[in-house]
Amino acid sequence: CGIVGYIGSRQAAPLLLEGLAKLEYRGYDSAGISIRKPNGEIEVVKAKGRLKVLAEKVDDGNAIIGTAGIGHTRWATHGEPSEDNAHPHVSTNGEVIAVHNGIIENYQELKDKLVKAGYTFYSQTDTEVAVNLIEYYSNKYKQGPVDSIARAMIRIRGSYAMAVMFKNEDDSIYVCRKDSPLIIGLTEDEGFIASDVPAILNYTNQVYYIDNMEIARVQDGSAVFYNIDREETKKDLVTIEWDA
Ligand code: GLU
Repeated sequence: CGIVGYIGSRQAAPLLLEGLAKLEYRGYDSAGISIRKPNGEIEVVKAKGRLKVLAEKVDDGNAIIGTAGIGHTRWATHGEPSEDNAHPHVSTNGEVIAVHNGIIENYQELKDKLVKAGYTFYSQTDTEVAVNLIEYYSNKYKQGPVDSIARAMIRIRGSYAMAVMFKNEDDSIYVCRKDSPLIIGLTEDEGFIASDVPAILNYTNQVYYIDNMEIARVQDGSAVFYNIDREETKKDLVTIEWDA
């Protein structure tokens, strides 16, 4: 339902919680964040219920050190509201961590395929299928994150906006979308990701609108865009009028 992301030099967890609070008006049943810690590990914390419950678990974000992360408020479509079903979801071998808005229509077919290939599922969500499918393509073709995400996008039917972290890509957050909104906000040395403008307006008014079937690599202060054929595309930064 709500997606946020941050990569820069400030502590990510308090910023993510702040951004999620700005998206609360959309409604949700659970929430979670994942942060890349200085030792390279990615910590995931989730909670059922109000954002306040999540915030208390991480001492308003102060309990997790790290300057890159993603967060989510979930409105359950596949699987009951619960801590296990809350996002972010982590792939079987821990290589891919993602949050997702929308619905993956052919998730059962994809799940059957992945189970046969040895993948394990810990939730009832359609999202966990996407996360494992990206890892599957990453291991099979070894062509890097943009290629793995593109292959998954071609295979998935339905709607999605996703923010994805790769365990072995420590300087980037990847995003993609189809029929579900997602924007990137930039400052000189930071990248913000959000499913809706209010989540980032406190930090920047310089944004990129991601197109359908597009992928972006977000880094400190920059974003690079790719079409579904993994070709780099050019895009204009848009200034949002503060008083609009
Ligand atoms: N379909 C996903 C789920 O049930 C995402 C729901 C959402 O958009 O919050 O977990």
